[in-house]
This record gives sequence, C-alpha cells and structure tokens, in this order.
Amino acid sequence: MYYMQRNLLAFIVCGLALTTFTGCIQQETPKETVVEAVLPLNTLEEDLDAALVAGIDALEVEGDALIQKNDLETKLDAVVNSNIYYPMVHYTDLRTKKVFAQLISPDSEDRFSGYHTGDDIEVTDVTNDAVPVYAMASGEIVRKQWVAGYGGVVVIEFEERDNNNNISTYHALYGHLNLESIKYSEGDTVLAGNQLGVLGAHESEETDGEREHLHFGVYEYTGTIRFAGYVDNEADLIYWENPSEFMRQRFVNELPQEAIIDDLNAAVENIVNETP
Ligand SMILES: [Zn+2]
Repeated sequence: MYYMQRNLLAFIVCGLALTTFTGCIQQETPKETVVEAVLPLNTLEEDLDAALVAGIDALEVEGDALIQKNDLETKLDAVVNSNIYYPMVHYTDLRTKKVFAQLISPDSEDRFSGYHTGDDIEVTDVTNDAVPVYAMASGEIVRKQWVAGYGGVVVIEFEERDNNNNISTYHALYGHLNLESIKYSEGDTVLAGNQLGVLGAHESEETDGEREHLHFGVYEYTGTIRFAGYVDNEADLIYWENPSEFMRQRFVNELPQEAIIDDLNAAVENIVNETP
C-alpha cells in the first residue's frame, strides 16, 4: 500500500514536472513569432495578416487569452476592412510643423496666418527622391488643378455609409503636389492606397513657392469645395475634420501595424506572465 502511494506520488510529481515543462515550451513560442513592423502602405494588409497569424497562434491558450484573441481579431479585421490609408508614409511622425487647428500668428514669418485647417506632413530631406502620396480612401478625383498658395491640388471625393445606411460625402484635399506626376484625371476613380503621384519640388511653381511638404485636409462635402488652408475664426474649423483623428477613428491610427503588433505582443506577454 505504502509502495503504491509512493508510486502514485512519483507519478503526480512527474506529471507536474511535465506540465511545467510543457508550460515552458508554450512560453518560448510567442517570442519566436514576434512580427517585425514593416511600413510600406501597400503591404499593410499582408503585415496585419502575418501579425494575426503569428499573434493568434501565440494566443491559443485558455481563459482570458480567448477573450483577448477575439478582441484582437476584431481589431485586426477592422483595420484590414477599414480601407483608409495614409496619404503619406510616416504621416503622424512627420507632422512636425503645423497640425490641424494650430494657430499661426500674423506676426510669424509665415506667408499665411489663422487656424490651420489640415495637417502639414514634412519631408525629412528635400534632396531625396520624389515623395509619393497615396489615396486615403476609394473615391473619385473631383479636382486636379493649380491653386494659389498650394500649387498642385488634388481633391478626392469619397462616401461613407453608417450603420443606419446614411451616406456622408467627404473630401480629402492634397496640397503642394507635382500635378504632372498625378496619374489620374478629374472624374477618374481611385482606390484607397493607390499612389496618386508625388509632392511638388521644394519652393517651386509646383508648391507655389512653399517648402516641399503635403498639406492634407479632410472635410464633409456639403456642396462647397473648401480650398482654404487657414480660417480666421477658430469656430470655422467646424467645417473641417481633424485628419489624423478622422483616420484613427477609422482604425488607421498613428502607426497601425506597429500599434497592433505591440498590442499582440503585449497580450502574448501578459499570458506568458500569467501562465503558472
Ligand atoms: Zn498646410
């Protein structure tokens, strides 16, 4: 009897050891499946799919993990299906001069003053190759023309349908473009993520003398094309969207791949830490 009990005890200890060992194997797995963030816009979906596969594989554990897994799947689906793309790579990081709603004083050295109706996206090196700009959403090119203060301008009209089937029409305005580089004409359809063309050259006719950068504005279209880059009264900003907020709400946040992969890795890390 005593002998049997000892055997049973040995069996239990063995089992525990085996469980712990298996646990160790499970803990190692996530670290091998960490996904490196890759930035080019057109590979966004592939990156997210890779993150999903790697992350979900790593999260195939019990309990809380399942909830986190569902949460992450929903989040990733939303990003993949959002069909909203950055107009320029590193969009948020390169908003280093003027963001939406920023007040530019008439006393500043700037040519214009007032409340900025969009984001300015800077280039890090004006001697670099031309900087591509992309269609933020699928829609129609409704303007492609030279406008004083901007140089080359493109406006994309796109629609959104809410849960009640109400349709809203928006415009995405791109200022300071090289118009000759634009592959589309007015009336053409573009798909989200398509390259429109490139930024205008630094302090040239293409930018109407401005530095090389993208002025990007988004507004709800109610019959008026809004070219203004600044408004005198803060209250008038109501006619424009905050572009980065607009995109974030549609699940394109600052660096979507990185943010979501960070989330995945953090979730995996939590599970690893909580696993006894
Ligand atoms: Zn601007």
